[in-house]
Amino acid sequence: MSDKYTLVHGFESAKKYKDSPTLTIGDYVFWLAGESSRNPGHIYVKRQGKYVGKISKHGDFSMAFNTHFDSVNDVKKILKDPILAAMNNDKLSGKCSFCNRKLTTIGSQIFGMGPTCLKKWGW
Ligand SMILES: [Zn+2]
Repeated sequence: MSDKYTLVHGFESAKKYKDSPTLTIGDYVFWLAGESSRNPGHIYVKRQGKYVGKISKHGDFSMAFNTHFDSVNDVKKILKDPILAAMNNDKLSGKCSFCNRKLTTIGSQIFGMGPTCLKKWGW
């Protein structure tokens, strides 16, 4: 099975465009820990501003000890298939799930994400 469409792969791709890429899907914000952080190379996750946990380079999720079960399930779904998660989220807003810009074509609006972001994230 190809892992091209996973979140970890997306961050590896997005890093080439930006030092500290950030991805927003619904309530969740994912960002790459910097080289000077305690967990360089990890992806951190917040939900509505609250720390949820971190994801290793290998895609292993370590949740914060007080994280709710539904958040854990959501993060695992996004990890495996961020595109599907983005599609299930908020696609009627007319905005890109990843960068929040207004989507201009019907195709992009159906997907809930723009072509530039898809390319940037390697999807
Ligand atoms: Zn976008």
